[in-house]
Amino acid sequence: MKIYFYLMFFIFGTCLGSFYNVLGMRLPNGESIIKPKSHCPKCNHKLKWFELIPILSFIIQKGKCNSCKTKLSLFYPLIEFSTGLLFLISYHSFGFSFDLIIALTLVSLFMIVIVSDLSYLIIPDSFIIVPSIIIFVIKIIQLGFVNSIIQVLFGILSFVLMYLIMLLGNKLFKKESLGGADIKLMFLIGLTLDPMLAILVIFLASIIALPVSIFLLIKNKEHVIPFGPFLVLGLLIVYFAKLDMKTIFNFMLNIL
Ligand SMILES: [Zn+2]
Repeated sequence: MKIYFYLMFFIFGTCLGSFYNVLGMRLPNGESIIKPKSHCPKCNHKLKWFELIPILSFIIQKGKCNSCKTKLSLFYPLIEFSTGLLFLISYHSFGFSFDLIIALTLVSLFMIVIVSDLSYLIIPDSFIIVPSIIIFVIKIIQLGFVNSIIQVLFGILSFVLMYLIMLLGNKLFKKESLGGADIKLMFLIGLTLDPMLAILVIFLASIIALPVSIFLLIKNKEHVIPFGPFLVLGLLIVYFAKLDMKTIFNFMLNIL
């Protein structure tokens, strides 16, 4: 029976992944997500239903537009597949629970931020506000109203911390070091995790971003590297590892 749920979450994820491609590509541009219908960017050929099946359409069409035979970007089916896979992993890690809703929300945020930040170096506010509201509601159900307000305070504290890091960075590098969206993302991170773990997320994000940045800088000297996707990746790792302050405290005691 369980295999059906795995399959269901994977397929559900690929369909949403396809939608996140549209969201991430259109919303930062101020375009509508309903009109115009999905089309080939080259020849404007309107995609029919069988050309819109996540992953499968790409494979059947051998990665080319049905009409003009232009090569389609592998980026879109990759986003669909990754969303499906991460939805499956979310179900595997959390089962049917409120934590699963938070996990799926974070995975969705990750995918949309990747599409939007890589394409435009922008993360629109709505991409941060909507998941924050979902997570806040789940926190109220899980922790009660007073404790979830405390979580909001931790969110604000994380926001302020990142703001100070940005001021320091601006002074050190004499240019804009972090985007406004990166600071706003910190609110969501503080809201989601145990207090203090937001610092661990910044640390993880920096460690993962460093080699990637060096690689991109060598390859393309003028490249601006978005930090948003790394922050959300750090958040995902800490959330899926089910880390809390107690675990970290015990770990610290063990190595000291
Ligand atoms: Zn075409």
